[in-house]
Amino acid sequence: MDQLETVSALRRQISAWKSAGQTVGFVPTMGALHEGHRALMRAAREACDKVVVSIFVNPTQFGPGEDYESYPRRMEADRAACEAEGVSILYTPDEEVMYPPGFSTFVQEEMLSMPLCGKGRPGHFRGVCTVVTKLLNQVGPDIAVFGQKDAQQALIVKRVVRDLDLPVQIQIHPIVREEDGLAMSSRNRYLSDQERKHALVLQRGLKAIEAAFLEGKKDAHALTATATAILAAQEGVKLEYIEVLSAETLLPSSRVEDKVVVAIAAKVGPARLIDNTVLDGRRGVVLSHV
Ligand code: AMP
Repeated sequence: MDQLETVSALRRQISAWKSAGQTVGFVPTMGALHEGHRALMRAAREACDKVVVSIFVNPTQFGPGEDYESYPRRMEADRAACEAEGVSILYTPDEEVMYPPGFSTFVQEEMLSMPLCGKGRPGHFRGVCTVVTKLLNQVGPDIAVFGQKDAQQALIVKRVVRDLDLPVQIQIHPIVREEDGLAMSSRNRYLSDQERKHALVLQRGLKAIEAAFLEGKKDAHALTATATAILAAQEGVKLEYIEVLSAETLLPSSRVEDKVVVAIAAKVGPARLIDNTVLDGRRGVVLSHV
């Protein structure tokens, strides 16, 4: 595995692969890699001849007072994880490469970015869209794999790729969870043992919604009320939102008639955690991704 830090070195290697007829899968990350990231790498490996993983803690997607400075950075362990998953290139550009002096061009998606995390984290998706567009342009992959864990991000990336005609196929991988159901996240490292137990309430809330939906309940308010009560009863957890939104438009759905995303965000100790589930009202089933 090569670790490359410049766009020119990256492009040289990738064009050599492409000239030899090899396909390229790409997994962009912010590092502190866990089994969720590794599942994305394996999906890319299955779909393509070569896999590129990037690690870049993107400053433009963090707001003031958020955890940019303290975000976990674990390059040695991350290198080993990529190596073990058969990654061909680990791309680790620095801030100067991604945002050279005078950088003044941003990519902004203006519809799907409005609700959920777009409200609580203004500017977050502008940073995400900008860095993802840049990384896709730098790598030029055939396929890029994103996680359902960040459902809104996945939908926004798909929209940017469609709207800007970026020549890449976006693949969404289901949420990878710990054995007890907690969605894996680099931010879980912020949790104490007790906070980690408290954090399981996100999954309990979503499971309660899934169970009620599978029993035939379709009223969004009734569904979220079940989970809100469960979360309210859990000490140490502050619910930010729980919403039922169309999986197409991310506009609020009052009933689960079509495909919806039920998205939840809560503060648990120092960590802001997110989780979600996808319900298909037409078929009456729970889906693994949008
Ligand atoms: P991050 O490093 O947190 O920016 O995540 C990089 C990619 O990994 C994104 O596409 C995430 O959605 C995805 N990802 C993170 N955690 C998980 C998880 N538990 N399951 C599936 N995908 C994940």
